[in-house]
Amino acid sequence: MRRRPAVLPLAPGSTLGILGGGQLGRMLAQAAGRLGLDVAVLDPEPDGPAARVSAHAITAAYDDPKALQALADLAGVVTFEFENVPAAAVAQLADIGVEVAPGPLALKVSQDRFEEKSFLNAHGAPTVAFAPASSPDEAVAAIDEVGAPALMKTRREGYDGKGQRWVEHAPAAARAFAELGGGPVILEAAAGFRRELSIIAARARDGATAVYPLAENHHEGGVLRRSLAPAQAASAVVDQAERIAARVLAGLDYVGVIGIELFEMEDGRLLVNEIAPRVHNTGHWTLDGCEVDQFEQHIRAVAGWPLGPTHAIARVEMVNLLGDEMQGWLRLAHEPETRLHLYGKREAKPGRKMGHVNRVKPL
Ligand code: AMP
Repeated sequence: MRRRPAVLPLAPGSTLGILGGGQLGRMLAQAAGRLGLDVAVLDPEPDGPAARVSAHAITAAYDDPKALQALADLAGVVTFEFENVPAAAVAQLADIGVEVAPGPLALKVSQDRFEEKSFLNAHGAPTVAFAPASSPDEAVAAIDEVGAPALMKTRREGYDGKGQRWVEHAPAAARAFAELGGGPVILEAAAGFRRELSIIAARARDGATAVYPLAENHHEGGVLRRSLAPAQAASAVVDQAERIAARVLAGLDYVGVIGIELFEMEDGRLLVNEIAPRVHNTGHWTLDGCEVDQFEQHIRAVAGWPLGPTHAIARVEMVNLLGDEMQGWLRLAHEPETRLHLYGKREAKPGRKMGHVNRVKPL
């Protein structure tokens, strides 16, 4: 059954749908609540972080037609907290007449590393050299093209450094290809970067855009450990990042918040590592460093509200709490400069993101 199109801007008292019920969904739901909106969350797992702070929780597969209809009956606007939402789910919602933001193009581009890098280059956002491969022979040829060492990544479904192998020389490419499952991969030239930065950007339904100050990001074992923001950066670096963000937002005809991961090269050039069409871990600092944080900004954008200010009002060190580190919550709660953000996950598996802290200092 088709629903009447949602009236935008979504008025307080309306319900917004979220696909995905992890910590990002939870913080989105909390931000929606501050704006007087209710949330309906759809996630295959019951009792997740977002479900416990949402008015409605639907437990079903993302592409379950009945569940999507139930979500559409509650919410005229739907967003998502992660980019691997099945394209079929978004298509079904669109068929029913639901506004899905960000749109299908952002999902299509970000679900496949080859499409993503091709899109970026076509829109004037530079990346490392890359080449796709779908067989061991193609993998060897791809190394010849991009140079060794190269980083082999699965085209789809890799995250937090999973689904990646360094390949030191062409003969090793065939083995790495098999180790990654034998599916389509992309070979990337090694980026000899000075450091990793990111820019969180937003675009409203009327095309207005806003960018947050840059964050400097430190990873351990492929997982984000901490971010420092606003990052100290030359104005030419900030200009490049903002230009890249503008091109990506316009090229995707984007609505919502996007995270853009960047490599700052030794010569000061920025290359894009990847884009995440959603709120982003490197934007968690905005919860305590900005008047309107990335979660509220995303809700504002998809609900058809105006964007809020993005300038920093404090310096923030964001540190992820992984696995058992969350046990230190009481000690952390004693630290006056520390803002605790815990996700309410029932079980602390090793490496699992259980929460984060923002250590706040004056600008
Ligand atoms: P990704 O899953 O693509 O975000 O990669 C995870 C991490 O691996 C990045 O944050 C970088 O630290 C590193 N990395 C990814 N791609 C490259 C590359 N082409 N060259 C060097 N390091 C990379």
